Amino acid sequence: MNTVLDFLDFVSASPTAFHAVHEAVTRLERAGFTELDERKPFSLVPGGRYYLTRNRSSVLAFRLPEGELTHFQIVASHADSPCFKLKTPEESDAPGDCLRLNVEGYGGMIMSTWLDRPLSVAGRLLLRTQGGLETRLCDLRRDAVLIPNLPIHFNREVNKGYAFNAQVDMQPLCGGKESRGLLLRELAEGVGARAEDIAACDLFLYNRMPGSIWGAQDEFFSAPRIDDLQCAHASLAAFLAAPAPEGHADVYALFDNEEVGSGSKQGADSNLLSAALRRVSTALGADADAVLAGSFTVSADNAHAVHPNHPEKYDDANRCRMNGGVVIKHNAAQKYTTDAASDAVFSEVCRAAGVPVQHFFNRADVPGGSTLGHIANTHASMNSLDIGLAQLAMHSSYETAGTADPDYMVRALTAFYGTDVRARGDGDFELVPVREG
Ligand code: ZN
Repeated sequence: MNTVLDFLDFVSASPTAFHAVHEAVTRLERAGFTELDERKPFSLVPGGRYYLTRNRSSVLAFRLPEGELTHFQIVASHADSPCFKLKTPEESDAPGDCLRLNVEGYGGMIMSTWLDRPLSVAGRLLLRTQGGLETRLCDLRRDAVLIPNLPIHFNREVNKGYAFNAQVDMQPLCGGKESRGLLLRELAEGVGARAEDIAACDLFLYNRMPGSIWGAQDEFFSAPRIDDLQCAHASLAAFLAAPAPEGHADVYALFDNEEVGSGSKQGADSNLLSAALRRVSTALGADADAVLAGSFTVSADNAHAVHPNHPEKYDDANRCRMNGGVVIKHNAAQKYTTDAASDAVFSEVCRAAGVPVQHFFNRADVPGGSTLGHIANTHASMNSLDIGLAQLAMHSSYETAGTADPDYMVRALTAFYGTDVRARGDGDFELVPVREG
């Protein structure tokens, strides 16, 4: 249960990808990690602990071995979640002497779940300062805006399936007409600046509802952004708990922009990971291509638990459930990177750690989702599999998962980092536990 409580703290510290990365960096620095600057040559020492960020919304962290670097063992997740992004911070006049914010959708959210609940605004500000332009993360940290439903009297069909239009239905109310400019001023003052000093900003709406643990025996918990902060949090906890690596280097990767296709400079479809892996290899005097060829990625992004009201949507023979352990995801079309080689390696690691695993396949007539693993693997190609934890209501503004599962994920990934996965041939492996201390 402590892992769940720590996760709920992580979620409330992470209203946006910028804040999630900031929280991960705070935890890395507390554990003795030093920042690297991508724009400067890497000077690394064996046994060192380093991290770097790109756009402040993606982060990579490395724990290097004392001896020769043989390969990397990477766990990758994503920091972003579907939400609404402000087009500009200026409000628009709205009927009823009101002001509205002007937003557009970010990712594929279930729109109705954003209605009639307290929301707030967070993101980053680019400030004009004496030294030039400076980035600051900002967060109103209070109930400040809301997107009201239309009354059923004017929308009689709403319970028979209503097509929400983001431009029409999802524009949030933020105050009366006398309050123009006040929220932006509050955001600026929250970081010790004036609204006039804001040169530009990336601002997002987020759900203010706090996390909750519930069920007859506290079997479940709900929170915003469980996809994919649950894997981001569990993999960071495992990364920090694992024994010092031998042979391989441990890598923690947290990417922005998975929900919009990963195609940004800081997304999984960029050179962020591949360039850093090559530079770390070279700085340690290793052959980067050889190191990459023997490396292993675990792409950790949440999975679907069978919905109790809609079991027909799931493959009969491969239903996953909450509190059933780590989910290994499979897809013949390779949207998930799992194959027999990577499945065998990870399943053996979990078996040795006493962590149950489940297997997810879509129905053969459902295309299903995709994630960052196969995208990252086109840039840095290596053995890889896709995993996650089973959850309900993916892409709702308030999602649900099982309270036993975060511990399973932390144990599985600690064991993965704590096992030297040595490629002995093309598809042959030796799994060697790393000695403690
Ligand atoms: Zn996800």
